Amino acid sequence: MPGVPLTSIRGIGPAKAAVLESGAAIRTVEDLLYYTPRRYLDRSELKKISDCMSGEEVTISGVIKRAASIWRSREMFEVEVSDLSGTITAVFFSGIRFFSKIFIPGENVLLSGKVSFFRGLQMVHPEFDFLDETSIDRALNTGRIIPLYKSSMELKKAGFDSRGFRRAVMQAIEHYAGTIRDPLSDPILERNRLLPLEKAIRNIHFPESAAHAEEARRRLAFNEIFFIQYYLSLRRMTARKNFSRKSGVRSVALAESFIKNLPFALTADQAKAFDEIINDMRQPFPMNRMLQGDVGSGKTVVAIAASLVCIESGQQAAIMAPTEILAVQHYNTAIKTLPQQVTCGLLTGSTKQSGRNEILNQVKSGACSLLFGTHSLIQEQVNFKDLGLIVIDEQHRFGVQQRATLRSKGSITDLLVMTATPIPRSLSLTIYGDLDISSIKEKPAGRQPVKTLAFPESRLQGVYNSIRRYIDQGRQVYYVLPLIEESEKLDLKSAIETYNHLKKNVFPDRTVLLMHGRLKQNEKDTVMESFRSGAADILVTTTVIEVGVDIPNASVIIIHHAERFGLAQLHQLRGRVGRGEHQSFCVLVHPDNIAENSMERIKTMTETEDGFIIAEKDLQLRGDGQITGTRQHGHSVFEFMDPGTDMELILAARREAALVTERITDPELEILEPGRSWGLHGPGELRTGHILAMLS
Ligand code: ADP
Ligand code: MG
Repeated sequence: MPGVPLTSIRGIGPAKAAVLESGAAIRTVEDLLYYTPRRYLDRSELKKISDCMSGEEVTISGVIKRAASIWRSREMFEVEVSDLSGTITAVFFSGIRFFSKIFIPGENVLLSGKVSFFRGLQMVHPEFDFLDETSIDRALNTGRIIPLYKSSMELKKAGFDSRGFRRAVMQAIEHYAGTIRDPLSDPILERNRLLPLEKAIRNIHFPESAAHAEEARRRLAFNEIFFIQYYLSLRRMTARKNFSRKSGVRSVALAESFIKNLPFALTADQAKAFDEIINDMRQPFPMNRMLQGDVGSGKTVVAIAASLVCIESGQQAAIMAPTEILAVQHYNTAIKTLPQQVTCGLLTGSTKQSGRNEILNQVKSGACSLLFGTHSLIQEQVNFKDLGLIVIDEQHRFGVQQRATLRSKGSITDLLVMTATPIPRSLSLTIYGDLDISSIKEKPAGRQPVKTLAFPESRLQGVYNSIRRYIDQGRQVYYVLPLIEESEKLDLKSAIETYNHLKKNVFPDRTVLLMHGRLKQNEKDTVMESFRSGAADILVTTTVIEVGVDIPNASVIIIHHAERFGLAQLHQLRGRVGRGEHQSFCVLVHPDNIAENSMERIKTMTETEDGFIIAEKDLQLRGDGQITGTRQHGHSVFEFMDPGTDMELILAARREAALVTERITDPELEILEPGRSWGLHGPGELRTGHILAMLS
């Protein structure tokens, strides 16, 4: 069935097919079958218009009574919709010409959106779907579920609103669903109580009940997980069979002397992580390890020690950081603490051309054995003589794709990714399923917990007084202000204003510095270095210092407008302090009146320092029920799997994939690549292509 052209569906000609391709990446009938509803409408969700209240998010169904463009200080388009109970007006400020073509009096329409009150009930730019008589009849009278499809202006203009999609998909199912081949065998389906693929496809589009829809989703989610697991375990198996590294671990003397010369002893968890890494490096196949540890747990020294093992074996290592500040910091720490024989290099976006060429040459000749950098490390021109280890710091900041590109720079390259963001187990078993995990749970000895306090702006003077007190004791202070992309200009202005205010009016007798992302790299370096050296007392900064920055004497962080930061970000920022021997403080300053949800975040911060608890709370506070359908949006690479609830399914799919992999003994089998045929045929296999592409 793969490859049946869209034009074989009645009503879809070349022009419409082209729109489906450009607007929704639907190229074939099969793609159409996999264009699953973004949500469903069942009768229980519909509200009577007379029951709608201002401020509520609702879906209503009614007949279009009037649709006209009107002028009320500007042109707008109004659509009056009535059900038996009352009337509501949909208002549009743009797209008027288009709307006047599609909103036709007498048609049935669904409106979803937020209700407001202006001379009667209204909805501004609601989502809308047209229903035909049969759908209405089904939805309203038999309680059937109506699929709603994601559309866009472009698609709607070509007739693909939800109704158009329903028609096209219905035909595709009638004519082609019968030809879907199930890639999974009957025993697998039976063991796991799964629907046959054909049935799942039918039911995901036109379920008879919510339970049917869920059954279908479960089967499609199983496919998703199964193929990822199958691919990962096959790749792992093939890798283990085909790879044999030439160098291996020769000696760990260099790393051990580095560790011995540190001003502290490694914690037991650090030492264990290091052992696990060396053990991986001794294997004939490449390491694939994630080092997890909360902010300040001391991941960097472990990474440097691992690099030294690699270097002592005659290969090169690369450490990639998400920001220039962090890359520079790592580099500077390294040149201070590493023995002379280890030549370090630094490559960031702002490395000047001449210096850049020199470093590139050293990397190519092998003269540079440890290269630090930002994502510029993955640029094409960077060629290593013999890259043995890649460390990716704060890996959540990088795309999976970047990880893959960097990896392709060495033939057998060990990979160590580091993260302070705890990964839910469901994800660590799926997209991160090919990574072994080391965890640093304990903090270095002698660390005192950071005291976190929250104050309204009306008490700012008191905050200033405490800042002065800490400075008198010899401490340094970060003063963080938000710089959120959408309002970047304004924020930058207010950061600069705050800096001037603090410098001139509040702390004229102290040294105050300013740091933000718009500074040139050499300016950033100067600022960071003078703060690091202790020459300045206060660093007014935006979130450019969010990840990784390590200045132990800076033991106080003030976060102004804390209500504008997410929990994960606040946790990362707080991680800048509590890194030395001094009692550290994190002070969250917020306007006197803030939303309840924001206060809840701030309260969470004052109550716990545990990254795992904070991550959970974060999910809880953000998970505000916007996921109503089968399809998750946003960060998830999964279309059907729900990392929050599918744990059992994940384990089952893993088990089955392992069994299938074991049975494959064909020595001719090459490393599988997405897009290439690999033994199992069926839509599910192709569907996971985009995920596999990211993982490979
Ligand atoms: P993160 O895990 O957040 O990247 P870092 O690697 O930046 O943490 O380490 C934080 C600080 O703790 C650094 O100043 C580092 O030198 C110090 N450190 C690391 N390990 C230990 C240890 N075992 N004992 C004391 N201090 C340590
Ligand atoms: Mg770090």
